[in-house]
Amino acid sequence: MDIFKKCFDFTKVEEAKAAGFYFLFRRLESAQGTEVIVNGRRLIMAGSNNYLGLTDHPRVKEAAIKAIEKYGTGCAGSRFLNGNLDIIEELEAKLAAFFRQEAALVFATGYQTNLGTISALIGRGDVAILDKYDHASIIDGCRLSYGQVKRFRHNDMADLERVLKDTPPEAGKLIIVDGLFSMEGDIAPLPEIIALARKYDARVMVDDAHAIGVLGEEGRGTAEHFHVEGEVDLIMGTYSKTLATIGGFIAGPERVINYVKHFARSLIFSAAIAPPLAAAASAALDVILEEPELRERLWKNTRKMLKGFKELGFDTGESCTPVIPIIIGDQWKTFQMCGLLQEYGVFVNPVVPPATPPGRELLRTSFMATHTEEQLDRVLEAFERAGKELGII
Ligand code: PMP
Repeated sequence: MDIFKKCFDFTKVEEAKAAGFYFLFRRLESAQGTEVIVNGRRLIMAGSNNYLGLTDHPRVKEAAIKAIEKYGTGCAGSRFLNGNLDIIEELEAKLAAFFRQEAALVFATGYQTNLGTISALIGRGDVAILDKYDHASIIDGCRLSYGQVKRFRHNDMADLERVLKDTPPEAGKLIIVDGLFSMEGDIAPLPEIIALARKYDARVMVDDAHAIGVLGEEGRGTAEHFHVEGEVDLIMGTYSKTLATIGGFIAGPERVINYVKHFARSLIFSAAIAPPLAAAASAALDVILEEPELRERLWKNTRKMLKGFKELGFDTGESCTPVIPIIIGDQWKTFQMCGLLQEYGVFVNPVVPPATPPGRELLRTSFMATHTEEQLDRVLEAFERAGKELGII
């Protein structure tokens, strides 16, 4: 049997393209701003993770340029052996202070952070306990580990307790949840999760990819939002959303971070983050603290869009954040709606199985501090027009 047979048989992409419903790998011909150019057409970006708009912030861009001038474009090796720059260690100290944890460890991507951290910590006989809506990188980290994986229903604390009760007391247990869920825009109930963890002798790790700079009085994420900062054992994050570049980190107790540093294969056997990226993330952290008005604008925009979508009659699920799903509940209608929105000048992302359970097909919208009222009104108008045409509202 030819190993490539499955590739030749895989025709779904051509079928979707022929039907006009292929929205993956859309080619942007501009920066990731509030408006983007796709196929020469200007669209309002209502599907970016650039929540505070910092990819275009002068201080962030300048920090990256200066780092290239001083260090060049890459580290040419793993941090473990020959690529560990002073600015990477300075970023670690800054991240630990920002998240009020003892120590932090910088990885080259958020994906690698989850892969390396989880596979290092979950050993034979240990159990990772995941929310069913956890990000794919958490699941992949578990797949690389020698331990067992158990899942509980999304944000369902009774189900989490059932899983904890079913797990032998002698097993090491790590509950891993997204802080702000990337598709649904709802928040993990950390106080309850922490209480259950204490009751059943488990540790808690939060993937705060989408919450950094967004949740909490000063943008420190989900733990700050719930005032439980000292009680979360590990905070994971990425720089690929609010922090405006690419890279990741895990923050927590010094002994645990030191262990991960020496056992995380995705750190040891992969090259260090490039200097401009470390510098950009570091500058973005400063901007989060020094320009709180950006977060205020983000929340003003969020409130406007949540209210606007609901008034039009759209189902926004449990969202209470800048990530607002528009639940359509039908695959073809989701694609049709996405196509119409693109025609009417709006970029959103269709989310269909396996990324969402069947029957919960949705359009993922997300908003930025830098969107203007006028842009947001145009998004709502496009949704109203498309939603009415398709009989969704
Ligand atoms: N966790 C979550 C919740 C994410 O949304 C993402 C990125 N989509 C990651 C981890 C991976 O981060 P990165 O893009 O830095 O690899």
